[in-house]
Parts: sequence; C-alpha cells; structure tokens
Amino acid sequence: MDILYFDNAATTKVKDEVLNEMIPFFLDKYGNASSAYSIGRDNKKAIEEARKKVAELIGAKPREIYFTSSGSESDNTALKGYAYANRKKGNHIITSKIEHPAILESCKTLEKQGFRITYLNVDNEGMVDLQELRKSITKQTILISIMFANNEIGTIEPVEEISKIAKANNIAFHTDSVQAVGNVEIDVNKMKIDMLSLSGHKFYGPKGIGALYVKEGIDFLRFIDGGHQERNKRAGTENVPAIVGLGKAAELAKENLNEHIKHLQELRNYFIEEIENNIFAVKLNGSRENRLPGNSNISFRGIDGNAILYDLDLKGICISTGSACSSGSDLPSHVLKSIGLDDDWINGTIRVTFSEDNTKDDIDYLVKSIKQCIEKVK
Ligand SMILES: *Cc1c(COP(=O)(O)O)cnc(C)c1O
Repeated sequence: MDILYFDNAATTKVKDEVLNEMIPFFLDKYGNASSAYSIGRDNKKAIEEARKKVAELIGAKPREIYFTSSGSESDNTALKGYAYANRKKGNHIITSKIEHPAILESCKTLEKQGFRITYLNVDNEGMVDLQELRKSITKQTILISIMFANNEIGTIEPVEEISKIAKANNIAFHTDSVQAVGNVEIDVNKMKIDMLSLSGHKFYGPKGIGALYVKEGIDFLRFIDGGHQERNKRAGTENVPAIVGLGKAAELAKENLNEHIKHLQELRNYFIEEIENNIFAVKLNGSRENRLPGNSNISFRGIDGNAILYDLDLKGICISTGSACSSGSDLPSHVLKSIGLDDDWINGTIRVTFSEDNTKDDIDYLVKSIKQCIEKVK
C-alpha cells in the first residue's frame, strides 16, 4: 500500500539529495573530525561547510551556529544555558503558554532552581498578547522566549514586534523556530533575534541533528561537558553525516524557499476550502493569514479525532490529532486549550501538514476519506 503522508509537522522525509551527500560519511569518509590525518580533516571541512549553509539560511555568521542533537537540545541549551550564565543580571524569564514541551519543561526545571517564569496568554488565533508582554517585564527579566511558529495550529507569532520590545528593554530574545525554518523567510539580524533553535528533520533533513544560533557576544553555559567540539560549547564527537545532511537541507531550503512556500500554501488552501465546503460543523484553528504555509488544523464538533486518525491509517493515510508530542497521552492539547477551544471541539481535532511531495489528487482522496469516516462515526 502506498503511504500518503500528511504529517510533515511531526517529521519530514529526507530528500534524496540530502541522503546522497550523507552516504560517503558513513562509508569511506569515516574519520573523526578532531584527527589530524586527511580523512579527519575532510570531516572538519565538511562540518564547516555545513555550518556556513545553515548560517546563510537564517542570515547569521557561521561562528554563531552550534550543532546540537535536536531541536529539543537547542531549546534546552538556549533557555538553561542563557539563564545559568546570566543569573547575576536577574531571574525572570517570559515565554508563552503554547510553546513546545522542550521549552515548557525547561522552564519548569528553571522554576525549581529559583527562576521565575511568566507564561503569556494567547488570543483565539494563538497570537501572544504584546500588551501583556510589555506589562510582564521587570528589572529582573533577562530573557524572552517565544516560538516563531506553533507546531500544532501553525500560527506565526509577531516575532519582529517581540524582538523590538526585548531590545528596548535590554532583554535577550530567543525563538524556537523549528517549525518556521525552511517555511518562512528568516533573517536574524533584520529581525533582531539573539538565539534561535532549528531541527533538521522538520525540513527534509535527518533526525537527531539540530542547531542553535547564538548571536556573537551573548554568553551561555554549555549543556554537555567534555571535549572541545563546537568551540567548547557542545562536547561530543560530531555526528558528521547528520551535520552534512542538515547543511544540504539548509542549502536546498534557501534555494527553493519562495516556490516551496507558494506550493504549500496552494495545497493548504485547497484542502481547507474542500473541507469547509464539504463537511458540516468544522472549524479552522489558528490564523487564516499568519499561518505556516503547510499547516492546517481543523476541528469537527462531536467527532473523535482518534477515530479519524485510525480510520485513515487503514487506508495508508498519515495525519495527526493534536501534536505528535502529546499523542499517546490522553491529556487535551495545551495549545488548543490556550486558544479557548471547548473539549467538544478539541476531541475532534486533526492536524494535516503538507510537503512538496503532496498533490491535489492526494488531497481529493484525503477529503473523500475524511468525509466517509465522519459519516460512518456519526
Ligand atoms: C519538533 C519540534 C521541536 C523538537 O525538535 P526535535 O528535533 O524533534 O527535538 C521543538 N520545537 C518545535 C516547535 C517543534 O516543532
């Protein structure tokens, strides 16, 4: 059975060009990047080329990019690393209620260690409240961390306005951009971003590799102690094949960005239109305008989202209910709660996220299958 994959916010398929760049580093180019002979030096060189490509994608300098094991590690390093290194300046951090668990759980850990965290509310489209942000700032505030785009409902936050507020108050600004990188144009200098997290597997690169951008001059404590890799900021022998893959994914993302965005927006708009025209009692969650190009998140009142998921799975169609990170737990999504959705709608929520591989024909089949499923369970 052919798989129709519509869960690209959970992970994406590695592109052939990415895989092909990686393979030699498993086979003959297996040296340790810290070794002095040629197959070691080749690896060192490959890492630095990948660093340059990742930097170019977000408008950073190569020396501002640190490779990590994941988006989650980047988030942990940004929050805890910055908090520990700057504790003398203050103990207050501002974030939002709809962040990824990698941010929210890092904040919980920091709370246990004496930091105070403000979790900003969002409106019914998932936008953070800028007025509340301004009011929350105190003399103790050292860091604001707000995601670039939400992984469940796709809402793109007003990052430039947030960074302006941060700058005006001399506070560092971090943004979890794992969903945005490769899907939105990002320039860390223009947008005045101090720290940014990204992850390879969310934009057609391999899993288990991420990067953290940290603006020059910003101090953070390293998360993993040991050797001198990553300019002493992240120990551990480099995962060279994955780093090379991330670099290639970044290069391709930069080359194709405008086309990619246009293509995904078309698929997304077509899907939303078809659902709204063909199915009764539906609701699009998130913002219609400020939304990730490939994200749709839709609720069907009084329907069990899991019933839809399992029914589609039998046909080889992959979608998700809340977020992949919270499925497997029965807790209702903290994001959908925060935008004020009633349980009756929350339980009937599916997330459908597109990639360049999807076609309109695929979407026709998907909509038909969702419709059949809803008629069956009603
Ligand atoms: C996927 C995701 C992460 C975690 O990235 P991993 O590389 O899977 O650890 C963090 N934040 C957001 C918004 C995500 O979508």
